[in-house]
Amino acid sequence: MSERRPGSTSPTRQRWHPINNPAELGRIQDQLVETLDRPEITDKLGGLALELAEVAQQLHPVTYNRDGIVSADELLASDSNSIPLVGNTKFTSHFKLAPTPMQFEAMGSKLAHEGYGEAVIRQLGSVLDNKYSSKKMETNYAGLAVCPSLATYVTLAQGGVFCAAGQPYIGMNLTHIQPLNVAVVAHEVAHALDYIKHPLLYVCDKEDLSAVTLADFKSHLKLARELKAYAVGDCIEKYFSDTHGSMGHVELVSHKVEAIRQEVNGPVTSKDAFAVHDDLVKRLIAAGLGHIYQ
Ligand SMILES: [Zn+2]
Repeated sequence: MSERRPGSTSPTRQRWHPINNPAELGRIQDQLVETLDRPEITDKLGGLALELAEVAQQLHPVTYNRDGIVSADELLASDSNSIPLVGNTKFTSHFKLAPTPMQFEAMGSKLAHEGYGEAVIRQLGSVLDNKYSSKKMETNYAGLAVCPSLATYVTLAQGGVFCAAGQPYIGMNLTHIQPLNVAVVAHEVAHALDYIKHPLLYVCDKEDLSAVTLADFKSHLKLARELKAYAVGDCIEKYFSDTHGSMGHVELVSHKVEAIRQEVNGPVTSKDAFAVHDDLVKRLIAAGLGHIYQ
């Protein structure tokens, strides 16, 4: 989730709005794809820039009706790996939310790597497909942008509890600053990338699954993923302010988060760039940034 809230100080001064216009969303998408290819960005983000560009190209702007219902079934039938991009953060999805073929593939290789056999992988696939067949999701997020994915727990007969992310999609409002819109969607694309490349959020034995362990694991994972998303957003914002001038009078949380992350963990391309540890957590909380993952 993006926690930037330029308009949150006063509802009457809300500086963003929903947009039911695929062409406008498509322009933001194009600009993101183009920006991710710039040397200023690839120098800083390294291989991550290419991964993000691949995901950005899979975005598909969609519309919603008067009741806020998005229907992307046709779109997803033609390209099941596509990621719906909705110009709103409050909507109901009727499209299939099961993991995409790319997500299933990533799950399969992770499980194989951890020593699970073909049978478990196949069983997980069919259980997930079944679990998701009747699900729809209502998203009602009050912030600027969001990248939800419906997570499902599966316990298989052979033991092992799996928490798997379903198909991600992105909902965003528009600000009046075009470069900021591009940075906002970049932040959410970073989340979508994590859902696609690392869809298995939790794999463990039944005995390990205590509430405390799970809560710790979840906030740890959320913070690591937010660190990456804010680093990406900040990189895009910096590029635009360097090349196109100021981003306007917006207080950018991404800048503060990324400054602390970089000081503690080093550049984005370093090995443990998004590692979560006590020192980093203490500094984020001291700077009033605990809300990005809590
Ligand atoms: Zn986020």
